[in-house]
Amino acid sequence: MKTVYLDYHSAKPTDPRVVEAMLPYFTEHFGNPSSLHHVGDVATEALEESRRAIARFINADPDEIVFTSGATESNNMALIGYAMRNKRKGNHIIISEVEHISIINIAKYLMAQGFEVSRVPVDQYGRVRISKLERRIRDDTILISIGYANNEIGTIQPVEEIGKLAAEHGIAFHTDAVAAEGLVDIDVRRDGINLMSLSSNDVYGPKGLGVLYMQKRYRVNPIIIGGGQERGLRSGSENVAAIVGMRAAVEIMQEEMPSEVQRLRSYRDRLIREVLETVPDSHLNGHPTERLASNAHFRFDGIEGESLLLSFKDAGIAVSTGSACTSKTLEPSHTLIATGLIHEEAHGSLQLTTGRFTEDEDIDRVLEVLPGIVARLRELSPLYQVRTR
Ligand code: PMP
Repeated sequence: MKTVYLDYHSAKPTDPRVVEAMLPYFTEHFGNPSSLHHVGDVATEALEESRRAIARFINADPDEIVFTSGATESNNMALIGYAMRNKRKGNHIIISEVEHISIINIAKYLMAQGFEVSRVPVDQYGRVRISKLERRIRDDTILISIGYANNEIGTIQPVEEIGKLAAEHGIAFHTDAVAAEGLVDIDVRRDGINLMSLSSNDVYGPKGLGVLYMQKRYRVNPIIIGGGQERGLRSGSENVAAIVGMRAAVEIMQEEMPSEVQRLRSYRDRLIREVLETVPDSHLNGHPTERLASNAHFRFDGIEGESLLLSFKDAGIAVSTGSACTSKTLEPSHTLIATGLIHEEAHGSLQLTTGRFTEDEDIDRVLEVLPGIVARLRELSPLYQVRTR
């Protein structure tokens, strides 16, 4: 049986065209960009060409791009690096209730270092309300960090409005754009973004590479100290092959994004329409329209997400109940709780995320097995029996 993979928010395959572009940089062009000889020059050229391509992708300047080991590092560098550099200006930071676990844990770390962190709540769809955000701004607020889109329920934040508000108050605006990249047209100038985290894998590049976009006036202190690569901002020999891979990935993405997003949107809309129609007591999580084209997120009354996931696994279908980054905790998703769901509701959730290699047959298969799985699990669910009797 062919494996059906509908968990693209957790991990994406590297596009074979990207792998092809990377290969020579493991062998023939193995040089270190810091070397002054011609072998090093080839690596330097590749590095700078990638920087230019990634800058074009988000409408930034090449010297605003810093390569990191992934979005987690970019988030650390943005929040810790900016907070440390600007602590004399103020010690208050604002994040939202639906941030990725890396942002939440970095915020906790900063609190332990003496910073104050406010969390702005979201509405029932997981969207930040600008008026509520504005109310949390103080004279000593130095940074607002709100993800471009939610990696679980797919809700897209009003990023331009957040950027405008931050600029009006002279506060830096950081966004973790990992969930949105390749699915939403990101323009850091239009959106008023000062700092932004990206990952290579989310545009079908290799894992283990990320980017921090850093607008010229919004510098951060380095958090990794060493040989002074990346203009002293991020030491360590550059991962040239992966960096070349990310260049290929964004160039392919720029070309193919319009048609890809349209195709994913039609899968999403079909999933949402047919699941809500064919499965009784099913609900959509997240925003009905302001949501990522790749994301369909449901909850089913009286059902445990985990048992749903295992039934899908038996059927050869890879799905998820939420963020892979928090799957090892037994706690319900903080994102779903922030949208006002109670624990039982949050536990009954199913996240289906599509991507570049999803086919019509994958969607057919999910729609074929889901109603039966839900019905079977409900037969075993005392909770659901009591409710419906
Ligand atoms: N932010 C978001 C929104 C994510 O979904 C992830 C994980 N894919 C990360 C940050 C962390 O990225 P990485 O694993 O590349 O460090």
